[in-house]
This record gives sequence, C-alpha cells and structure tokens, in this order.
Amino acid sequence: MTPELDAIRSTMRRYWGFDQFRPLQEEAIAAGMARRDALVVMPTGGGKSLCYQLPPAVTGRTDVVISPLIALMKDQVDGLRENGYPAAALYSGMAPDAVREVEQGLADGRWRLLFVAPERLLAPRFLNWLDRATVRDFAVDEAHCISQWGHDFRPEYRQLAELKTRLDGVSLRAFTATATERVRADIAAQLRLVDPLELVGRFDRANLTYRVVPRTDVQRQVLEVLRRHAGEAAIVYCLSRRDTETLAASLSAQGLRAAHYHAGMESGPRHRTQEAFAEEKLDVVVATVAFGMGIDRSDVRCVLHAALPKSIEHYQQETGRAGRDGLEAECVLLYSGSDVIRLERLMERSAAEAAERRGEPLAAAPGDDAALEAGRVLLRQMQRFASGMACRHKGLSEYFGQAYERDGCGACDVCLGEVEGVSDGSVTAQKILSAVARAEGFGVTHIVDILLGADTERVRTRQHAQLSTYGLLKGVARGGVTAMVHQLIDQSLLERTPGDRPVLRLNAASWEVLRGQRTVQLVQPAAKSSSTAARLDSASWEDVDRDLFEHLRGVRRELAEARGVPPYIIFNDATLRDLARRQPTSLDDFARTYGVGDRKLHDLGPVFVERIKAWCERS
Ligand code: ADP
Ligand code: ZN
Repeated sequence: MTPELDAIRSTMRRYWGFDQFRPLQEEAIAAGMARRDALVVMPTGGGKSLCYQLPPAVTGRTDVVISPLIALMKDQVDGLRENGYPAAALYSGMAPDAVREVEQGLADGRWRLLFVAPERLLAPRFLNWLDRATVRDFAVDEAHCISQWGHDFRPEYRQLAELKTRLDGVSLRAFTATATERVRADIAAQLRLVDPLELVGRFDRANLTYRVVPRTDVQRQVLEVLRRHAGEAAIVYCLSRRDTETLAASLSAQGLRAAHYHAGMESGPRHRTQEAFAEEKLDVVVATVAFGMGIDRSDVRCVLHAALPKSIEHYQQETGRAGRDGLEAECVLLYSGSDVIRLERLMERSAAEAAERRGEPLAAAPGDDAALEAGRVLLRQMQRFASGMACRHKGLSEYFGQAYERDGCGACDVCLGEVEGVSDGSVTAQKILSAVARAEGFGVTHIVDILLGADTERVRTRQHAQLSTYGLLKGVARGGVTAMVHQLIDQSLLERTPGDRPVLRLNAASWEVLRGQRTVQLVQPAAKSSSTAARLDSASWEDVDRDLFEHLRGVRRELAEARGVPPYIIFNDATLRDLARRQPTSLDDFARTYGVGDRKLHDLGPVFVERIKAWCERS
C-alpha cells in the first residue's frame, strides 16, 4: 500500500469507521488528491460525499462544495461535525455573527470543507476570501442542476461556468447521479472541465426489489404494501396534490403515522412535515414529486408509486431515495394504463401554459411543440417498462446504457415469479377484442362491464346484454380484466383515442389477433406469489436480533431528541443492525462496529454499550 493510500484509509477509519471503499470511490478520491478535474457519476447512495470529503481531510487543505439546497448543506455539516470533521456552510439568511465565524475559520484554515450555495460563490467579497485563503479546489454536488437536459435544472447553477475564469488554478470535480450521456457532456462543457477524468458507476441498485402491480384498488393496495413496512420509513408518490391529501388521510385513519406533502402547501406545514419525517415522528409521507431533494433519511425502506411516473429518469430518481444506506428496500409501482392518458393531458396543459407565458400562439398541431413531443417519448418508454415482462433491474440498467449480465436478478416481480402469463393469452385477447368489435366507440369501463356480464344502466339502455360477447369473462376479477385491456393497448393491439373521452377502437393488429394470425401474451399476478417477506429478510438481517434493533432505534431517537439533531445523524440503520448483531459490551468491541469512527466511539460508545449490556441482562 502506498503511503498516500494508507493515509486515506486511516482518515476514513478515523472519521467514519469505514474499512472498504465503495466502487469508484478510490479513483475519485485519488483525483481529488491530485487536483485533477473529474466528472463522477454514481447512483444515489453510492457514496459521492466521501469522494469530496476525504481529500481535504487527508491533505489538510480547505475545499469548497457547491450544493443546491440549504437543508442539504446544513444536514451534511451537522453530520460531519458529529464525526469530528471540521466543516461549515455559508448561505443567504445567516446571522452576521455566524458569517463572521465562517470567515474567521476560513482565514485560520480551520475548515476542511466549506459548503456554499451557487449564488453566493461568485460574490466578489467571497471570491476575495477564497483568494486570500488560497482555496483552489471545488466540488459541485448535484451537478446535473447545471444542465437543461437534466431533471432538475437550476438557473443559478449556470453561474458556475465562470468559476474557472474568476480564480486561477482552480480544480473542479462534479458529482451527480444522473446518468444520460447528454447531461454528462453538458456538465463537462458548462463547467469548462479540463481533460476531466470520467468515472461512471453502475446504475443498478442491487439492494432494491422492484415490483409493478396492476392498480385495482389504490387505497387497499397501498395499505397492503405499507403493512409490510410497519414502523419503517416510506414515501408514496401521487400524481396530484389532491391525491396526496386523500391518500394520506385514509392511511392516517388506518392508524399509520402518515402525512401529505406538496408544493401547494404553506411553507410552515410543509417544513414541519419534512422535519417530522427526518425526526422519525412520521413514517409515511404521501407526496408529489416536490418531495425529494433534501430528504437525508437513508433508511427509507419503501418507495411506492401510486401512479406511473413521467419518465424512467424520474422513476430512477424517485426509487433511488429508497435504501440509501445500502440495506434492502422495496419499490412498488401501481400501474394502470389510464395513467398514460392522465399524464399526457397534464403535459399538454403545461405545454400550453408555457407557450402562453412566452406569448406564442398554441402549437397548431400536436407534435409542433418539441418539448411536448420529447415528453411523450419519455412517457412511452416508462409505459413500456411498466407493462413489460422483462427483469426490471435489467430494464433499468439497459435504459441507462449499461448491459446487465446476470440471469435473473432475484429482486424483481418478474424474476421472483410473481407475475405469470395468462395460459391462453391469445384466446383471452380475442374475447376482449371481439367485445370491442361488437361495441366500438366505448371506453374501457363499459367494455369491461360487457365482458364481466355486469348489469349497469348503460348495458340496459344499449341492450348490450344481448351481445354474444356479454359475460365472456364472467368470474374473472374486474381488476384483472381491466389490466388485460390495458396490456393490449400497451402492446398496440388495441387503439384508444386521445382526448377527453377516450374510446376503444380496433386497428390492423387487432384483426390479425382476431383472425388467429398473431399470438398474444398477457400477464396476471401469479396465483401463488412467492412470499414477499422471504426476499426482504435477506442477508442484511442475518443474525440481527430484531428486538434489540428496535430497542436501539429507541435509544437513537432519545439521544437525537436530547441533542436536537435528526436520528440519522447519530447512527444509520446499518450501524444499528451491526450493533444488534454483534452486541458489543465493551468499548473495544464497539470500536469495530460499522460506521463508528473515533469521535463517535468516545461520544456515543459508552451510552450504547451500557444500554446493550442492560438489555442483554434483562433478556
Ligand atoms: P450519495 O451522495 O452518492 O447518494 P452518500 O454519500 O450519501 O451517497 O452515501 C450513502 C451512504 O453510504 C451514507 O450513509 C454513507 O455514510 C455510506 N458510505 C459511503 N461510503 C462508504 C464506504 N466506503 N463504506 C461504507 N459506507 C459508506
Ligand atoms: Zn429481475
């Protein structure tokens, strides 16, 4: 081992109590030590922060990190200080005293890391400070915010392009979890990186189990999934603000600690919800996509989509918030083909509003608006992912341009055998299509009514009970029939008209199916699905005393409350599980726990050792 690597490792152990690098961390840290420009793409939870935290700690210099959100910065600084790592943050709205302290610390060379908001960075006064303190090394966190092609463009990030011209000899490393080629190229160009080292990690999140389930009864299904995660952190994503409120209310009525969150709320209640979640006073947040960045809880065990996301990028981003501590977590997508129509309509509306704001006439024909068209393509890809029958891990990896070699991931509904083909898919498809042929010009609901032989007002007035197709699928669950109709639409074997009142029509492919010239595969939830619990209790729970783990969570909450910090600042779940597995009763033993560095050994070791001892004696 080189002396440098030796120093890096011992620093990592001292502050964080980690023994091993995660993939690409070593290379990214080496670039930081060598002051080389770099672009580092790692999946969420991949360990980007360590890559910019370690080099200044080893070399003793001060580096600056540019970060988009104040909440995110504060959290990181709190977490670092709890580890004894000297860090500070500078953002608008700070008291003059606090600003002076940061400045003084900078002049004294006290900080290893200084976090700043992008809009502060180029203020002449601040550049002056940096110049005098000979700060020359920068990290840009969430670097995709600089690109319009990313999912979270922030205009204030554009100013960062000037960094290299405003200070001499600047080295810059950009970090992001966003993967597309175009965003990557854009980041490097915008930041004027010089011969950057590009490090692109694997996007697959092996600790996540993905499931796509036909949506039949959203409230019941959401409840069922969340019951598997009782007392654990979960995020439920909905399409509309109203949906979040309704669903959160119904979950609360069922006794879950749930609340809604969306951008239309007053900042007070919104902030309180976010805080309650961070402090583990709330288990479930039902939210629109507005809830995302700024959640630093790494123990989210379940991300549930109550409806289809707009794109696979969004899906990856949102599910990425599960299991950031590397422990197993579940991602469930409740999918109905009707989501596609709803999303298209939302996209059209916002495109029209954008055109109006620009003072342009509305696009004459669909397709005239390039952004809208791009949005449709992304949505189509998401739809194909959801309705497909291929391994989800493989699908996601390949979407982001990486081959997935493993045969069967063991962590998705498809590979776990939870979906199965309908035994006579072609015959069932013919039944559905004939129902449409006999009653063209009706929506999904009415066609399903006919197939089920339902006695509804419309069936009576149209005398549809007399159709030969009436009751052809009697006895099949309504949700199942609806799901199969949508599968035919997804496979383009059946058309649904656009617009406000979509109706079903046959197309050329439908006739091929009806004539028996084409076979069809339909899927349904497996009758006997493999036990979901089995997979979730994977290796990371091995030998863990679950009662002790819960007990230690309580100890963590107590300490957090007393210190006025969120519980994850104390220890993350991986550390608590390691404690509940090894049950150390001496400080020496405690020191070997995952995630325990020098500072926490002395600060928290005695309390935890004592509580573990007491617990062992009692049981
Ligand atoms: P990202 O910013 O890439 O989403 P983080 O930097 O927040 O990820 O790291 C995710 C989690 O992994 C954190 O809890 C962090 O402490 C932990 N972690 C990072 N690097 C290592 C490592 N080498 N060994 C063990 N845990 C690590
Ligand atoms: Zn799979």
